[in-house]
Amino acid sequence: MQFIKDFTSELKVVSPGRINLIGEHTDYNMGYVLPTAIEKNITFELQKNGSKDTCNVYSKTFDTGFELNLNRIARSNVEWQNYILGVINEILKRSDKLKGFDCILESNLPTGSGLSSSAALECGLAYGLNELFDLGLSKLDIVQLSQTAEHTYAGTQCGIMDQYASVMSRAGHVILLDCLSLESNYIPIDLNPYKIILLNTKVSHNLATSEYNVRKQECEQGVSIIKNKYPKVNSLREVTQEMLVDCKNDLSQKVFNRCSFIVSENQRVLQMADALRLKDHKKVGDLLYDAHEGISKLYEVSCPESDFLVNFSKSFHTVLGARQTGGGFGGCTLNIVHADAVSDFVESAAKAYKEKFNIDLEPFKVEPSGGTTAISLISSN
Ligand code: ADP
Ligand code: MG
Repeated sequence: MQFIKDFTSELKVVSPGRINLIGEHTDYNMGYVLPTAIEKNITFELQKNGSKDTCNVYSKTFDTGFELNLNRIARSNVEWQNYILGVINEILKRSDKLKGFDCILESNLPTGSGLSSSAALECGLAYGLNELFDLGLSKLDIVQLSQTAEHTYAGTQCGIMDQYASVMSRAGHVILLDCLSLESNYIPIDLNPYKIILLNTKVSHNLATSEYNVRKQECEQGVSIIKNKYPKVNSLREVTQEMLVDCKNDLSQKVFNRCSFIVSENQRVLQMADALRLKDHKKVGDLLYDAHEGISKLYEVSCPESDFLVNFSKSFHTVLGARQTGGGFGGCTLNIVHADAVSDFVESAAKAYKEKFNIDLEPFKVEPSGGTTAISLISSN
């Protein structure tokens, strides 16, 4: 693209991906989650280009870019452009200060692997434009407008976790986020001598977006039926296992299973927060295995590859627990592995995975890291 030749970056934004220790699909059910940003991220370089309404965005990762006009923002047929366009659309609703800009972005975050490259993309852009044009948006505004952009332009009816974790995380902590009140507590995470190891299955199922939205509908269906007996209930957050069992005959087996997973997953998040506070590493691991069981059997958002890796990990006494992390149907498994045993576990898993699926496993260690940052590259004098 022409603009790249004369590009002088004014602002650099680093926007991280995230892991979720536990609490899967609970965010859009107004429950609890326990995510943190990781050190893999998308970097944005931005400059004002002096135009009133012409903008250029180039993804080095995909080696492709596009020009857009602020007066004619509409959904695109090119998937990744919708994350950009959606964010701009939301900013335009909130501010009239946005003008022409150029943006070059580059990522070391695997895409479509459950590490929320989508939220990193949305929030990084929103954060950068807020700084560049002094839009006066709060961090929470950035989180919420990015979530809305994912609904309206990207088409995933996601909860608030991914965007919240990407922007708000603190190094060395996980965020215990109540998705109903948006109250958050930063919980120190010290798993020493254990490490968090991700195994990227490299499976990125296309049905993820549509199935994700179906799960959300199934939960809503459950809530509307439970409401007949318990009129005060507005979300699965307010449902107990006892209430659910009381309504079992009114629910299909499938909807019952979905609701049952969410209700127990919320409990697991709170138990996990306690286990971290107590440094009860065994409990941390057990909760992960329990969660994966639900993800696979009740919520049915796993896949043979993730199930294989989680089961495989069970034969290692040096692995305390594992589960698929992220929205599902592939992506990464998250494993709590003794520091001394990481290479043995990773090599064995890679070998077994290659034999079974003929896919090269991509393992990496992650550290709980801080949220989005921006550095101005223009000196103030
Ligand atoms: P996840 O958020 O788990 O990575 P999603 O399917 O929600 O998976 O989002 C992945 C999508 O985000 C990609 O298919 C692409 O459209 C967009 N995306 C992520 N990273 C980049 C990038 N570096 N450049 C352009 N688009 C990206
Ligand atoms: Mg995503």
